[in-house]
Amino acid sequence: MTDRSRIVIVGGGHNGLVCAAYLARAGREVTVVEAASQVGGAAVTREFAPGFRASGCAHLLYQLDRGIARELGLESHGLKFARRDLKTVALAQSGDHLVLDAGRAVAGTLPDSDRAGLAAWRARMLKFARIVAKQHNRLPPRLGGGGRADLMGTAKLGLDIRLLGREDMREFLRIAGINIYDVLEENFESPLLKGALAIDAVLGANLGPRSNNSVLSLLHRLSGEAAGGGGPALPAGGMGAVSEALAAAARAAGATVRTGVPVRRITLDGDRVSGVELENGEKIAAGTVVSNADPATTLLKLVGARNLETGFVHRVRHFRHKGMAAKLHLALEALPTIARLPSELAGERLVIAPDLVYLEHAFDAAKYGRTSPEPALEVTIPSLSDKSLAPAGKHVLSAVVLYAPYDERANGEAARRELLDRSLAVLDRHAPGLRRQVIASELLLPADIEREFRITGGHWHHGELALDQFIMLRPVPGAAQYRMPLSGLYLCGAGCHPGGGVMGSAGRNAANAVIASERAA
Ligand SMILES: Cc1cc2nc3c(=O)[nH]c(=O)nc-3n(C[C@H](O)[C@H](O)[C@H](O)COP(=O)(O)OP(=O)(O)OC[C@H]3O[C@@H](n4cnc5c(N)ncnc54)[C@H](O)[C@@H]3O)c2cc1C
Repeated sequence: MTDRSRIVIVGGGHNGLVCAAYLARAGREVTVVEAASQVGGAAVTREFAPGFRASGCAHLLYQLDRGIARELGLESHGLKFARRDLKTVALAQSGDHLVLDAGRAVAGTLPDSDRAGLAAWRARMLKFARIVAKQHNRLPPRLGGGGRADLMGTAKLGLDIRLLGREDMREFLRIAGINIYDVLEENFESPLLKGALAIDAVLGANLGPRSNNSVLSLLHRLSGEAAGGGGPALPAGGMGAVSEALAAAARAAGATVRTGVPVRRITLDGDRVSGVELENGEKIAAGTVVSNADPATTLLKLVGARNLETGFVHRVRHFRHKGMAAKLHLALEALPTIARLPSELAGERLVIAPDLVYLEHAFDAAKYGRTSPEPALEVTIPSLSDKSLAPAGKHVLSAVVLYAPYDERANGEAARRELLDRSLAVLDRHAPGLRRQVIASELLLPADIEREFRITGGHWHHGELALDQFIMLRPVPGAAQYRMPLSGLYLCGAGCHPGGGVMGSAGRNAANAVIASERAA
């Protein structure tokens, strides 16, 4: 092997590890260099208080590509599940909680029309989400590219939509770019049901229920289930277990995975990459560098704007990547008692978004740079099914908190204390006395996520998922095929197609793009 045939992957997030595993299986010499002391990026398990561990950012697995899990043999590399197919419990202040199991309402009061309409609506949304899922493992076509592959790519997308049938195709085209508020208002009456369905459309996005693109965001979220992946799952040992299994698969295929080695810059030889230089001064020569870091970090910091064409830099600077979600971890003295919720349901996925207006009001504050006065939450208590996460008898609560804008007015200690207090107030309303059970807490704002996980803006998807940053426009037009406009440089993270969530598709697609361009050379 010459230095030129070596491949360096910057970042051992789950996508970097998937990319490493596929390239190593294809016989390439691969080295992953990860800045943090453990692999996984935003999919890690970490101790946040003595004896209490939680999944760092991502806490539920619902999009992991089944083909990747099978091909890389993740179960043989140690991946096990504490729970699969979690139900969703929409908590109601009245105690009349709504329990949804694979989209069917199995408990709670609903008008007959909603109960009957829900199954059909969900089936239709899953059908639409399947269109999104089909794109996940395809190389996006080049916009205006005249090559056979580009024409075929565009044609396949068109055909997938056409094959929905006339009525569904019209409905898909009507709703794909609009807002979930209007769509839910057209279909349902129950405020609690609408709130529970809407939170899935806005989690991790710079969107309220009335924002355009929120239907698209929901279809992206449903795409894992639409592709046959089942409902949300809790990996045993937390989300870090997924990343550890991926690292084991990459190592077994021959890749070297190093941690605690931040990359200072991507080195160049003229207009092609020549390797990386680490913060410790070590240089690693390589003919190909694949970056799992977000597009802004990779292109503007590690490569440097001066080494790129001005128009391209302009587009990268305008890639929207301001995070909106905070992550809350609580170490609890005991299992909280949620009013009128049977204790066996406390381990399911709990959502607090009582209606659409509540969610939209929570977003209103964030639009003007403030955290929500009444936050919406997606909550899990993973220690109920996974005793490894907390000392005996004690529990861990993990929650995504909406909204926490990436904005200096909503940053720092005062903002953190305020949002923590408001989140506890909301939780305490549903689980009276919970506040007194808190032994330790951690609230990560987007700026904290940016710092700790090295994600510019702390964004769930490394950049907003919206029609103007989707498929062949992701991250930016002209660079949506993983290959960047510097010879030998590729991206493989959530900032590329098909976006964020722990799925692995960007990593595998990037590996395929590297192999394809080697063949073409
Ligand atoms: C609050 C929050 C909650 C979320 N919840 C969920 C959820 O429940 N389920 C879900 O599926 N998804 C969730 N997500 C989204 C999901 O976590 C991410 O989309 C996904 O983990 C991104 O994976 P990635 O491998 O592309 O990038 P990352 O995980 O960001 O990995 C990039 C890696 O590159 C490394 N890196 C960056 N710069 C350098 C450098 N200079 N040198 C070396 N290494 C570097 C980083 O340290 C990191 O390890 C959540 C995200 C957030 C922010």
